[in-house]
Amino acid sequence: MGSTKAPASRGIRTTFPEEPPAFTGTRPSASVVRIRYELPGDLHPASLNARLNFYRNRFDVGAAKRWMARPGGDRAYALILGRHSGIYPRRFRHLKNVPLIIDDVEGPAGLRPFLLKYLPEGVYYDRNVYRSLAEARAAGLDYTHAWRSRQFLGQELAFDLDPENLDCPIHGDIEAKMKRHQGLSFCDWEFDEVRRQAGDLFDRASKSWSELTIVYSGRGFHVHVIDDDAFRLSRKERGRIARSYARRFAIDEWVTSGEMRLIRLPYSLHGMVSRVVIPVPRKDLDRFTYDDPRALPTARRS
Ligand SMILES: [Zn+2]
Repeated sequence: MGSTKAPASRGIRTTFPEEPPAFTGTRPSASVVRIRYELPGDLHPASLNARLNFYRNRFDVGAAKRWMARPGGDRAYALILGRHSGIYPRRFRHLKNVPLIIDDVEGPAGLRPFLLKYLPEGVYYDRNVYRSLAEARAAGLDYTHAWRSRQFLGQELAFDLDPENLDCPIHGDIEAKMKRHQGLSFCDWEFDEVRRQAGDLFDRASKSWSELTIVYSGRGFHVHVIDDDAFRLSRKERGRIARSYARRFAIDEWVTSGEMRLIRLPYSLHGMVSRVVIPVPRKDLDRFTYDDPRALPTARRS
């Protein structure tokens, strides 16, 4: 399947057993009442034009492809069109809240026509890796039971650090934020604290594994572990690791445990904040802000 292939409905399903990280938990009925989120600085939802401009001119397909190359195997992607921003192409109104699963493209280059067509608010990939998704589809693979499939090779281990999980001196704990329907809002205090935790988590996890990457996710940070032995961890081991890290860090346990498999695609646009999801070297982390030139969607790539 070449990257020039026009997006078709084939390979897109509108049902998925799970939801992206930020969308779990006790969330307000955002589809009924438009929530205005409080975001620091000039962070703001991206317009359709901004998304089109980004995926047409700025999206670094090569970097995204290198990211997805490891571990090798077939991967599925998911797009969220406009669930939180309320901004989506009108002709896809019926799809605005549901993850669109794309599991028949070869990497980010194959994904690009879909990005230009749907102009999504968020782009995710499934951390599960399969021997062949074509064969998995033919066999009617149920993603929720993928671990038992012969096609299943493993899952990328990741930690998801979100500002809403922090107890903020100004905005309170997660329950207080959810009660005010502000689960996706965050402030500079929370950003600084979640960044500090990302560094600490990286340093701690580096004692167990050797290939780790910190990714700025738009609101918080992800720590990805690329080591082969982490990729092959059992669900039980993942659950133990998740519980252990959750005692010290503001992580979403269900991401690390593997229940929630979707994670933002690095180099994609986070449409709620108009920032690019990008890896941040550990040595740069302490100085990193959401206004870093590397995270600005309109900045010229070097
Ligand atoms: Zn706060």
